[in-house]
Amino acid sequence: MTETQASAGGEGNPLKGPLATGTGIHIQDLTKTFASGRRKVTALQDATLHTDKGSFLSLLGPSGCGKSTILRILAGLEDPTSGRALVDGKTPAELRRDHELGIAFQDSALLPWRSVESNIRLPFQVSGEKIDQSLVSELIRLVGLEGFEKARPSQLSGGMRQRVSIARALVVKPSVLLLDEPFGALDDMTRQRLNLELLRIWTEKPATTLMVTHGIAEAIFLSDKVAVMSPRPGRVKEVIDVDLPRPRTPEMMRTPEFHALHDHASELLFGEGGAAMDD
Ligand code: ADP
Ligand code: MG
Repeated sequence: MTETQASAGGEGNPLKGPLATGTGIHIQDLTKTFASGRRKVTALQDATLHTDKGSFLSLLGPSGCGKSTILRILAGLEDPTSGRALVDGKTPAELRRDHELGIAFQDSALLPWRSVESNIRLPFQVSGEKIDQSLVSELIRLVGLEGFEKARPSQLSGGMRQRVSIARALVVKPSVLLLDEPFGALDDMTRQRLNLELLRIWTEKPATTLMVTHGIAEAIFLSDKVAVMSPRPGRVKEVIDVDLPRPRTPEMMRTPEFHALHDHASELLFGEGGAAMDD
């Protein structure tokens, strides 16, 4: 396995190269090895990804290719074996310290005994900050949960729980939003509707976003870039630039440009003429 390589054109200390000054997500030669009993699992091998500040990047790839590992490294929940991950020049630890991260997972991970409102307020209590009630109310409106402020998670549908979890991720006013298959457990119709809502929310509250998904269509529809990964060991196969105009509308999903991007991503994932996946 190679050590972190200084990027081309780097100057001075290779560990403090030009990456540290750039904005957006900068992942360079990220490798992660897990010890699994006596065996070693290389979850991620030399993954390199760069995006601009405020852009939307999706990670697409088969199960087990290291998507969540990238996200967990950016979230500071896992340390890389080698390589670097920075957002706006900050390390994951610095991002956490400065409350710049908003995170939502497939499982909404809400506290069952707390109301919607009280779950969304949680990050303020965790960080010891004063509760910004007007922001909490604004986010409840933004995710379409007005009237459900006092409801418990058990009284909500799966889609509503995921909206609470996204509102909670946004309450810290994150500059970086990390979404790990946020709608992955929901049925197709709900998922499509929530993707549209996510787009609207992201447009209203822009953040540099990294979303893990296994849906090709939703990745293209939402993103500025789609990184397609290959499994065992997880590598970035190709980064597709999605040059569809914004604002995006559902009609765009029926254009030749969209279909061409979809075909290209499918080919990367399944090989030419490969079986279609879920969308
Ligand atoms: P994805 O999100 O793309 O499905 P993951 O990033 O979760 O994939 O996992 C990538 C690989 O790393 C898988 O083979 C998984 O089993 C392994 N892995 C992930 N986390 C751990 C861990 N804590 N210990 C051992 N192996 C792990
Ligand atoms: Mg995963």
